[in-house]
Order: sequence, then C-alpha cells, then structure tokens
Amino acid sequence: MQIAIDGPAGAGKSTIAKKIAATYKMTYLDTGAMYRCIAHCVLNQQGDRFDDNRAIIEIAKTTKITFDGDKVFCNDKDVTQEIRTPLVSRHTSDVAKIKEVRNLMVNQQRDYAKNHSVVMDGRDIGSVVLPDADLKFFLDADVLERAQRRKKEMDEKGSSKALEEIRSDIENRDTNDRNRIEGPLVQVADAIVIDTTGKSIEVVYQEMKKYIDEASR
Ligand code: C5P
Repeated sequence: MQIAIDGPAGAGKSTIAKKIAATYKMTYLDTGAMYRCIAHCVLNQQGDRFDDNRAIIEIAKTTKITFDGDKVFCNDKDVTQEIRTPLVSRHTSDVAKIKEVRNLMVNQQRDYAKNHSVVMDGRDIGSVVLPDADLKFFLDADVLERAQRRKKEMDEKGSSKALEEIRSDIENRDTNDRNRIEGPLVQVADAIVIDTTGKSIEVVYQEMKKYIDEASR
C-alpha cells in the first residue's frame, strides 16, 4: 500500500501521516526532512551561500540521510531539532528547486517505497515520486490558520515569533514551492482534496480513514 499526502506548509500533513502510519502499521517517510537536511548541511558547510548549485549538488550526493522513528540523521548525526529552525525552513526551498537535488531525493524515496508499505508526505509525492500510489490526498487550509498552527507549535517549543512574520514565511515558501519548474507543489487530478480549515486532527484523520478503509477492502 502506498499513500501520498501533498499540500502546502502547515496543512497538517505530517501529524496526520504519522497517525495513519501508526494505525495501518505502515512506514512514514517525511520527505520534507530530507530537503531540510541538505539545506542544513549547506548552511553548516558554506554559511548562507545558496547561489552555488554545483556545491549544493555535491553536498546532496555525499549526505547520507536516515530515519529512526521520529529522529532524523544526517551523516549519522541526529539533526531532528536543527532542521526545524526558521533559517533552515527559509533556505530549504533554495535547495529543493535544484533538479539534480530533487532527482537524488526522489530516487531514494522511490527505493524506500519498493520495500515498504508507505505513507509519504511532501509536495510532489502524488505527481512525481509515487504517481501510481493507491491513494493520493491533497491537504490544504487557509493561510492564516496554517500560520496560527505553526505559531502554536513554536510557542510550545519556546521559540515564538510574530504571527505576521510566520504567515509571511509560509506564503513565501508556498510561492517558491508552487512556482518552481522541477517537482512543484501541485494538486493532481486524482487526489482527494481535504480542506482542513477549522477541523481538528481527529476530524481530518477520520475523513481520510474512510477512504483508506475503502481502498484496502
Ligand atoms: O514539509 P516541510 O515543510 O518539512 O518541507 C520543507 C520544504 O521542503 C518545502 O517548503 C519544500 O521546499 C521542500 N519539499 C519539497 N518536496 C517535498 C517535500 C518538501 O520540495 N516532497
């Protein structure tokens, strides 16, 4: 079974994907974490210079990304926290727009899906990574609500920012993700579209569960 979940930042994809994976004993693959790892390595190795594609591609080729439960490892170093900083979030779309970087990530993601029953979330899962997935979901939500959700998460971690700044970061990220040439964020024709605005995780999860139960019959 392969389930693809795409959508813009803060639509609730990862929380729901983890819940689905736990229920159906599937493996969850956070593809955003992979692009974040590359951005994090670039920041470590060359500061915030994101204009040298060749150097970024080289970093992507030599970086080993692995997962262990909720933890993410970059060349065997636990980077679970570091890859979630606003600086990494801002620069991830700079590496994610590079064709060669995407090809490297997409190949690893497809390899993973060959040997596992997977739930993957990202931007290009239904369109590029798993075009034959059994189920494709596209989760969306009003941008203000997505910013409010992100703010709540940040407040809980003690790294608060103004709502307007978070909203603007999200909008910039979405614009970059939607408008890039390689693997843009798109809603494919065969995706089940769910607007999560005003809905709890549980409500969205139950809605998706109906489709999954139906497909696994
Ligand atoms: O999902 P998350 O917010 O962690 O993704 C971070 C960034 O990684 C996105 O804004 C996007 O630029 C990139 N990404 C991507 N393709 C994916 C997943 C994430 O380009 N499949």
